[in-house]
Amino acid sequence: MNEKNVIQSGTLYLVATPIGNLADLSSRAVKVLSEVNFVAAEDTRNSGLLLSRLGVSKPLVSYFEHNKREKGPAIVKRLLDGESCALVTDAGTPAISDPGEDLVRLCAEKGVPVTAVPGCCAAVTALALSGLPTARFVFEGFLPTDKKERGARLDEIAAEKRTVILYEAPHRLRATLDDLGAAVGDRPLALCRELTKLNEEICRTTVKKAAALYEEREPRGEYVLILGGASDADEEDYPSDPREHVELLEAAGLSRMDAIKAAAKARGVKKNEIYALLAKRDGDEE
Ligand code: SAM
Repeated sequence: MNEKNVIQSGTLYLVATPIGNLADLSSRAVKVLSEVNFVAAEDTRNSGLLLSRLGVSKPLVSYFEHNKREKGPAIVKRLLDGESCALVTDAGTPAISDPGEDLVRLCAEKGVPVTAVPGCCAAVTALALSGLPTARFVFEGFLPTDKKERGARLDEIAAEKRTVILYEAPHRLRATLDDLGAAVGDRPLALCRELTKLNEEICRTTVKKAAALYEEREPRGEYVLILGGASDADEEDYPSDPREHVELLEAAGLSRMDAIKAAAKARGVKKNEIYALLAKRDGDEE
């Protein structure tokens, strides 16, 4: 193999760190962390601990969401001056739902070389373990918390045919399972918890069953949710007439408003179109 082994000056190294099992840190990651001039870390205490467990002593600078605007250019300046830097986050691959994306962009703009020491990523690990289709997938990371943005994102996910990867924190898991159920109905879901740790658990189930399970069970640890994509059967599983579609949903217990909303979402049309059809029929019947 033609390996890239010598530390290059003036280069940013994106170094993946374990997502829960120290043994998953690659020997190349250790080498790069030992040999770069400095390490930029999302949390200098966490990464300081990691380095001391590896027996590595290295100057650390902090680089995270709320200081990236000022720290990014300072790091790039040091790189342009010829120093080498390893960027690490608390767990997994930098720039994936973690700081790094902006720093990579800044380096690209300034002509600073960036390379990677690949390793753990919770998203890909969970996808591989899910048992769901892996040939085509989409990474959504954390759902937005803002109600409007969240609703819009859930609508997109409902129409998505590829397997969907979501990250979630334990205190938001129940709400997310409920919101997914309301948006996509019941679909295959793999709940991947505490990957690579002692309590690793892969629960291959469905959205509704997972929601019911977690009504009883306290969410604990870190989760990746792998959601099956919309199937063609989902799309065709309704009457061709939108008015009958609404009636069917009303018969299933939905209010008229919710039935119109759900029918519009499933058919990929605007609510107003269905309102107009219903209003026309109601008018004709009078
Ligand atoms: N950059 C990381 C990566 O490459 O996976 C992701 C960082 S993101 C801030 C943290 C989220 O990743 C957690 O909330 C959880 O959804 C997921 N995650 C990280 N470690 C995990 C693990 N061991 N098991 C399950 N999910 C994990």
